[in-house]
Amino acid sequence: MAVLGTTPQCGELAGFGADRIDLVEDQALNDYLVDVHDRVLGAIVKREKPCLVLFEATFSGRELAAVLGAKFNGSVASGCTAIQYWDDGFEVLRPVLGGRFKARLHLSALPAFVAVRSRSFPLCKAEGAAKIVSIPVKVPRTRFKNIKRETSGQKIALDRADVVVSGGRGMGGPDFSLLEALAELLGGAVGASRSAVDADWRPVSDQVGQTGLVVAPDLYIACGISGASQHMAGMSASKRIVAINKDSHAPIFSKADFGVKGDLFEILPHAIETIKRL
Ligand code: FAD
Repeated sequence: MAVLGTTPQCGELAGFGADRIDLVEDQALNDYLVDVHDRVLGAIVKREKPCLVLFEATFSGRELAAVLGAKFNGSVASGCTAIQYWDDGFEVLRPVLGGRFKARLHLSALPAFVAVRSRSFPLCKAEGAAKIVSIPVKVPRTRFKNIKRETSGQKIALDRADVVVSGGRGMGGPDFSLLEALAELLGGAVGASRSAVDADWRPVSDQVGQTGLVVAPDLYIACGISGASQHMAGMSASKRIVAINKDSHAPIFSKADFGVKGDLFEILPHAIETIKRL
């Protein structure tokens, strides 16, 4: 395993089965910059010659997989939920068309650079800890001069949350306080459809879907979201989906495990009060 980060981060990762963790510690790696990270990872790939390089399917993970795949003339697949050996390469599964189908891809050009969806694989705690080795890699001197972060102030990162309560155009405006209250009660995070983000009701970092985050929480509660395929692409791997929508023909109901037909502004306060009493 290679970590571009800090010794404490390695400590957290050491108990998950890797024999060795190669650590590159440098301040220039604190903030993601593709030109810097791809050269450092590229140097490690060149030296270790792995046949498979895994990333988390975040914006940076997907970007690095693509850039390194091109650099090493390897295979690239992103958003994968399963992976196994196949002939002289690997076979991966990747949900497509809003999660209604799974594409089976054979990756024969090695190394294969695969970005996997977070939470698609169970955590495997292992006996013993990996050996952490600091390795010398020349880190480019490129630095950010100034970074303006967009934060939504969420306590739990959206793509790490066990529960996601998302709102769409049906919210009718930027007041997401009902969703925030429900998410807080359930220990979850608030997400949004692209319509809600495009209307400036929520920050881009909250967008779930094809051009936003891909989430797979234990529970996804979609409020006032119609269920367009581009939205489904980001949440269809959720373990349980609950939909609240006043239109009984909304496509989201075909994917939901539990659907409530009605006005979310009447249903959510009842739900919140009931959960508070539990
Ligand atoms: P709508 O489709 O307008 O649905 C609103 C729903 O709210 C309706 O079903 C309505 O019945 C319901 N409603 C209204 N009032 C209430 C109420 N009071 N109580 C209960 N229900 C109510 N979308 C994404 O979400 N994520 C993406 O990443 C994304 N990427 C895209 C990429 C491309 C290339 C394209 C072309 C589109 C993308 N979209 C994405 C947009 C997508 O196609 C839809 O337009 C969008 O998801 C619709 O958002 P919505 O469900 O909030 O709005």
